[in-house]
Amino acid sequence: MMADKEHQHIENDEAYKGLNVNRGIEQPEIFDENSIQRFLKNKKKHKLTVDDYVNGIREGNRTILSKAVTLVESSKVEHQQIAQQIIMKCLSYSGKSIRIGITGVPGVGKSTFIESTGKYITSLGHKLAVLAIDPSSERSKGSILGDKTRMEELSVDPNAYIRPSPSAGSLGGVARKTRETIILCEAAGFDVIFIETVGVGQSETVVHSMVDFFLLLMLSGAGDELQGIKRGIMEMADAITINKADGDNVDRANMARVQYMNALHLFPPTDSGWKPKVLTCSAYKKIGIDQIWQTINDYLSHVNQTGFFQFKRNEQAKFWMYETINDQLKSNFYQNQKIKELLGTFEGKVLGEELSSFVAAKDLLDTYYQSQKV
Ligand code: GDP
Repeated sequence: MMADKEHQHIENDEAYKGLNVNRGIEQPEIFDENSIQRFLKNKKKHKLTVDDYVNGIREGNRTILSKAVTLVESSKVEHQQIAQQIIMKCLSYSGKSIRIGITGVPGVGKSTFIESTGKYITSLGHKLAVLAIDPSSERSKGSILGDKTRMEELSVDPNAYIRPSPSAGSLGGVARKTRETIILCEAAGFDVIFIETVGVGQSETVVHSMVDFFLLLMLSGAGDELQGIKRGIMEMADAITINKADGDNVDRANMARVQYMNALHLFPPTDSGWKPKVLTCSAYKKIGIDQIWQTINDYLSHVNQTGFFQFKRNEQAKFWMYETINDQLKSNFYQNQKIKELLGTFEGKVLGEELSSFVAAKDLLDTYYQSQKV
């Protein structure tokens, strides 16, 4: 019954009730034991130094850039130490990019937009890095940008670098890592940086604090006019783009554009003196993408002329210094061995009304300061 002689097996007889035996898969040569050993040996031998990382990044070596970003994202002390040295050395090569924040509710078309706009930007000769801040990825385990099928064209574009959101830690922690990653990407020669975030929570504020231009993607006629986008987020936007302006949707998109333009008139003037623009586009059909890029460039000429560009960058640098201090102090406090031992007891005392919250906090802080002196 089996034509293939070589494949004749009693187990393959129709009457046989046990498991079938199939022909095995031939071992490719590359997986022979020697080559695995050689690979492991090389890997051990080749531990990159800080200078190896910096040189690799400066040469635009993506593998080394990715490894450095992994160090930035790591919470291990030894990784952080190397990461900070790499960042320090890259700092003088950074800053020469346009940093653009892109936000909008899930489904608005952010990744489609990034794919179309990204391809347009690289076709103009730019080098684009796409980063993300996704505070939900820790909870849902499904990071935005994590899905490999997204941005199919951009992900194989040699002038684009896509990095999913770091998933561990608080929003502040994740954001700091992204900010440090920007520095590495800039040192690697990426002159346009996109930072994507889901427009539903606090992450926009944090993205706003690290970008030069903030773009809000919206939909037309989705019932709720503001689509759950808080007014505060609209106020932060330097441009609003109504996406999916294609097919039957073009008229509705144009109407929505007028509505948003009217709404923006009621907002207080922006610090930059720039009047936020409202545009329409179809990320899918690649319509209106050039106008958005033009708007971003108009904005840049405006803020470069007024000096607001540098002013905002300086403010952001100060903000991140304080954020980092706050973050580090807090984690240092909670990781202190003595504090770890005492926290539970003090919590109990507060709950048992033996101590007021303030006295408990003061005692714990005193203990912490004391432990820092020795
Ligand atoms: P995200 O969740 O904001 O990243 O949205 P996606 O980019 O994944 O897009 C959500 C859906 O909208 C997908 O099915 C896209 O194909 C579709 N979409 C995105 N942009 C457009 C557009 O410009 N026009 C139309 N008709 N559909 C679009």
